[in-house]
Amino acid sequence: MKYIIITGGVMSGLGKGITAASVGRILKNRGYRVTAVKIDPYLNIDAGTMNPAQHGEVFVLKDGSEVDLDLGNYERFLDIELTAGHNITTGKVYRTVIDKERRGDFLGETVQIIPHITDQIKTCIRQAAEQAFTDGEKADICLVEVGGTVGDIESMPFLEAIRQMRGELPAHDYILLHVTLIPEDTMGDLKTKPTQHSVKALRELGLHAEIIVGRSDRPISAHTKRKISAFCDLPQNAVISAATVPDIYEVPMEMEKEGIAEVLAAHLGLEKREVDTSWYRLVTKEYTSRVTVAIVSKYGIEDVYISIKEALKHAGRALSTEVKIGWLDAERYERCQLKDYDGILIPGGFGKRGIEGKIEAIRFARENNIPFLGLCLGFQLAVVEYARHKLNIPDATSEEFGEGSHVIALLPEQEGLHELGGTMRLGNYIADIREGTLAMNLYKKKEITERHRHRYEVNPRYIKNLEKAGLIFSATNKNRMECLELSDHPFFFASQFHPEFKSRPTRASPPYLGFVEACRVNKRTK
Ligand code: GLN
Repeated sequence: MKYIIITGGVMSGLGKGITAASVGRILKNRGYRVTAVKIDPYLNIDAGTMNPAQHGEVFVLKDGSEVDLDLGNYERFLDIELTAGHNITTGKVYRTVIDKERRGDFLGETVQIIPHITDQIKTCIRQAAEQAFTDGEKADICLVEVGGTVGDIESMPFLEAIRQMRGELPAHDYILLHVTLIPEDTMGDLKTKPTQHSVKALRELGLHAEIIVGRSDRPISAHTKRKISAFCDLPQNAVISAATVPDIYEVPMEMEKEGIAEVLAAHLGLEKREVDTSWYRLVTKEYTSRVTVAIVSKYGIEDVYISIKEALKHAGRALSTEVKIGWLDAERYERCQLKDYDGILIPGGFGKRGIEGKIEAIRFARENNIPFLGLCLGFQLAVVEYARHKLNIPDATSEEFGEGSHVIALLPEQEGLHELGGTMRLGNYIADIREGTLAMNLYKKKEITERHRHRYEVNPRYIKNLEKAGLIFSATNKNRMECLELSDHPFFFASQFHPEFKSRPTRASPPYLGFVEACRVNKRTK
């Protein structure tokens, strides 16, 4: 197993995750099997309880773990499926060590950060790296991204652990890549000083960067590279320019042009292999049309809906259609704004805020034949909207939001769990698709597996009447409703699951494909 360690300097938010994922893609294009580990130095056990407004989307893995959104990027760039172990947090590491201490595993020793915490970190990295993929095969190369910035107190034990790893592994099995900011001064010159300082901080920890990826708004000149090379003790060809590009999927191509593959190959002792260029062809294909989609949401922060945004892009690419997103604040938008869009999407969410605006938008889409895609909460609100306006239950709502007729509720078998809190249905579950439905048309199979993250369900007491009034539940998992649709509408589809988590640039998600296609048809007929 070869390890590529990725650290970050100067500041966070430089796109370290995208850089790491792109390195992985470059190697995958050469036939290597690549996996990824993301280290988050916070004390939370996982991202499940974290506020998306602060931390971005909570990504859900097949095993139901709720993780950092960077794991979503790894899954999309590398076309793999990760598990809980691939997201290491300080919380997880300390909990394991403290549990061991309570069990007496340390035989009376004083339990310390070095060696006990650092040993545990190394064990976690190794276990995640060695974990076989679904085909039973292991990876050849593991990316290890250390979250945060070098110098943060929180990341110290992790940086110490990766320092120790260098000594424990053959030289050809370890490389450190440092991602840093190369800012521009008021004269328009790219400045290397922040990079010099962050490399100095690395050195103080006993770490040496073999590759420096410089993030900047425009490409880094040979002159600047020479300077970085001289100050940071690495050859000039190991200084890689990563200027901002319009689409993240172009990053591997840009880094490939910079010659990063050769530097990696020389250092890791990789043989020269032919490059599969299909990824590069895919992301440079011209768009032939464009559609606009309104996302009516609670947070106007795009990072909260990153998987949805990407899934729309994947579907758009497959259909050579550029998807432009308009973010509408569910509490503030004007109804008349909706008609400017070719389609309306209601994303997932928790809590009462903004739901009336979302219900209004669903009604607008339903009554005006505008393509509609509802996801999780969007699915539940489509049921509420239908119950209110087609079943004449004006106080129809979800149990999550308080008093009213609960068309969305906890199932009787969930009731006991109510007080315990941990009632979420998370990760992969199957859904059985009904013949002759839009769902069947989209997925073209009877049984699908998709990822979930929700607590409430369509209340079984209302299902018959909803169906009688025309709502079709086109996929189910026993007594749980998984998809809904309407037959007298060009495209009205919602799912209790989140299909966006399984969407890939090379394999767009079926509901998203159907939705973008319907938006295109709607635009043409407008
Ligand atoms: N709040 C809803 C539930 O818990 C929907 C969750 C979601 O959209 N992810 O069921």
